[in-house]
Amino acid sequence: MSPFRFLASLGASLCVLLALPARADLKVVASVPDLAALAKAVGGDHVQVTSLALSTQDPHFVDAKPHLALELNRADLLLAIGLELEIGWLPTLRNGSRNARILSGSPGYLEVSQFVHTLEAPTTAVDRGHGDVHSGGNPHFLYDPRAGLAVARGIADRMSSLDAKNADAYRANLAKLTAELEKAIPGWQQRLAGLKGAPVVAYHKTTAYLSDWLGFDTFTFLEPKPGIPPTPAHVAQVLGLARQKKARLVLQEEYYPSTTSKLVAGKIPVPLVIIPGGTDFRGGQTYTQHIEDLVTRLENGLKGKGT
Ligand SMILES: [Zn+2]
Repeated sequence: MSPFRFLASLGASLCVLLALPARADLKVVASVPDLAALAKAVGGDHVQVTSLALSTQDPHFVDAKPHLALELNRADLLLAIGLELEIGWLPTLRNGSRNARILSGSPGYLEVSQFVHTLEAPTTAVDRGHGDVHSGGNPHFLYDPRAGLAVARGIADRMSSLDAKNADAYRANLAKLTAELEKAIPGWQQRLAGLKGAPVVAYHKTTAYLSDWLGFDTFTFLEPKPGIPPTPAHVAQVLGLARQKKARLVLQEEYYPSTTSKLVAGKIPVPLVIIPGGTDFRGGQTYTQHIEDLVTRLENGLKGKGT
């Protein structure tokens, strides 16, 4: 190799080395994988992101394992959904983490429900003793990509104030995500136009923001109350109503047992669509890819194919 080529290639290697961050500037921990995926999209190379819950886990009930508290111990920023979604497990972990940076009211703690318009907000006091896991309003807003965008904006603002030197990068990444989602949303709506007004049976109230976005009508749920498993008497009632309303689909999240949903879908009969519990963040999926997957499953359901 000529001395010139050697120097050029050394220069190129150094550039590559210098382009890689020595370490992430912000360590971000998200309660659920959709939030982790949004945080990674906004933070890019400047952040290290972990998700406490997996997409295959029920986000209302996550095991507060010690290694999760250890993740929180090192966090600069904790992202939570709020609306009491994580009330059964996150406070325990946060207390065990001994990290003052992520306590309520600290800049290192961000509940993203403040960035979206909450559906099913209670107008009177709700007693959680009756099993309602949605006593603060419906927390499943990240199934609506428009809410995803609003949340990403909120995350970008907080990352910029915690790590001002990278604020331009966070803004640029947010602009890229915004362009990507704004380009995809009309196509998704077009593919699911047939869902407008369609009567749908769902397992859990995960569908509130989805039906607000796509215009379908979830007229009944297999759970008698959010968080309470189906009972035979309730299922019989749902089945009667589903036949009367001419239901088009049965929807349920991946993390719930599917026996009852299969039974009900088979008896109506309509396709059962299993929707993802969230972004497969550990598998490298992005939030946009997750919504694409969700739309594809719903589209297949409309064509008569279950998941
Ligand atoms: Zn729920």
